[in-house]
Amino acid sequence: MVIIMLGAPASGKGSVAEILSKEFNIPAISSGDIFRKYISEGTEIGQRANSYMTKGQLVPDDLTVELITSRLKEDDVQNGLILDGFPRTVNQAKVLDEMLTKEGKKIDIVVNLETPEEEILERITNRMICTNSDCKAVYNTVLHPSKVEGICDKCGSPLYQRDDDKLEKAKNRLEVYHRETAPVADYYKETGALYSTVLSKSVNRMKDEVARDVINYLKNK
Ligand code: ADP
Ligand code: ZN
Repeated sequence: MVIIMLGAPASGKGSVAEILSKEFNIPAISSGDIFRKYISEGTEIGQRANSYMTKGQLVPDDLTVELITSRLKEDDVQNGLILDGFPRTVNQAKVLDEMLTKEGKKIDIVVNLETPEEEILERITNRMICTNSDCKAVYNTVLHPSKVEGICDKCGSPLYQRDDDKLEKAKNRLEVYHRETAPVADYYKETGALYSTVLSKSVNRMKDEVARDVINYLKNK
């Protein structure tokens, strides 16, 4: 099974992906997490990616595609995977199609999270992440805070705010999302794989409800 998560930054892609990953027993792969891992390890790819990420810009396609191509060769994804944060440009979507076709695979669903713009900025700037790279639990100081401020419920490590989640960079990322990534949804609409669904606190429809509907949809497909 191949599942793609689409949506604005902090729309809940990672949280929904985590639920789907447990349900279908397939790994969720976040391109942003892979970049952040390379950055913390000080690798050359990490350094190149970091100069774009700190500005809230997209990492160029050649570097991103290289990273995902090598990740998709690993054993753990051969029975299925969830991609969170890739593709983010129409060009990346086309390259992914070619990659999957070569391996005789196809995309089962593209889950496109629709979250109102005013909620997105709030979600980004209130996001806190666990510093433990084996945990990476995500919190939100308003929507779902940790029990003890600044400390991860799951592993006790300190939480931090991503530098690119600060207001000015967050605004940049939202612009990039509208310009580069929103057209990816139109691309998948044409292929018939697009499943657009609202995730919003205003209608009390959060990650659990969204994930439940996606699971039901896939099981009845
Ligand atoms: P979010 O979950 O908030 O959308 P991510 O962790 O997915 O953030 O991505 C963080 C940053 O990593 C992006 O702003 C971008 O600089 C870079 N990045 C991640 N995935 C891609 C991609 N597919 N193409 C280009 N850049 C990417
Ligand atoms: Zn943790």
